[in-house]
Amino acid sequence: MSDLAISIQDLHVSYYGNEAVKGVSLSIDTGNLVGIIGPNGAGKSTFLKSVLNLIPRDKGEVKVLGKSVKEVRKKIAYVPQRSDIDWDFPITVLDAVLIGTYPSLKLFQRPRKKEKEWAYECLKRVGMEDFSKRQIGELSGGQQQRVFLARALAQKAEVFFLDEPFVGVDVSSEETIVKILKELCAQGKTVMVVHHDLSKATSYFNQLILLNKELISYGSTSEVFQSSVIEKAYNGQFAFLNEMGV
Ligand code: ADP
Repeated sequence: MSDLAISIQDLHVSYYGNEAVKGVSLSIDTGNLVGIIGPNGAGKSTFLKSVLNLIPRDKGEVKVLGKSVKEVRKKIAYVPQRSDIDWDFPITVLDAVLIGTYPSLKLFQRPRKKEKEWAYECLKRVGMEDFSKRQIGELSGGQQQRVFLARALAQKAEVFFLDEPFVGVDVSSEETIVKILKELCAQGKTVMVVHHDLSKATSYFNQLILLNKELISYGSTSEVFQSSVIEKAYNGQFAFLNEMGV
């Protein structure tokens, strides 16, 4: 039997009095690759950030691996939207990945050879080892996203959260990222991905969370990805749904 990776009870989040996430409750077992889908402005990104305590909740309890996010922070890796990152920040690719090893370092301890070798291994896994000395700002969107995945891998986390990792990313990078996420889940890690594009949802994820402020549906991809369910979130955008093959 699987263990519980994430449990969320009655989560509410608002901006200036407008509710963006309304009363979401759900529990996710370890080893799942979960897509968070829903229309633009449905609160997908807000949901992810509030689960991680990056923005305040009005109400609600979140446990990751049975504990508060603060207690298990080292076991959680987060890859923000590319647009949330300052790509002009002067840092090389290898150093950006090395940051992922910091949770395993003691206070004031600098990364040693061991950490540098591990960071390089992680870069290899995403096919970016030849770019280790480049500045992150010089990379393409797909390359940047691979580097941030390598940083998450370097952290040796148990639970991974990614916000729109495929936006502005080339096909080959997207395939590499999906392959690695599937491997992580096969190893018993848990991965949650905010993903606005329905067309790939069935081949990428084994579970889906369908949001439109409220939780519309959560379950296996085959249960959630049905026109009668999806329509509830995408009020009346039928032509669009037909194009997506729903
Ligand atoms: P999604 O990720 O599904 O596109 P978001 O979580 O980004 O949705 O946004 C949900 C709602 O909250 C939207 O109406 C958006 O305009 C609003 N919102 C998001 N971020 C902020 C913010 N920093 N300040 C005010 N409103 C916000």
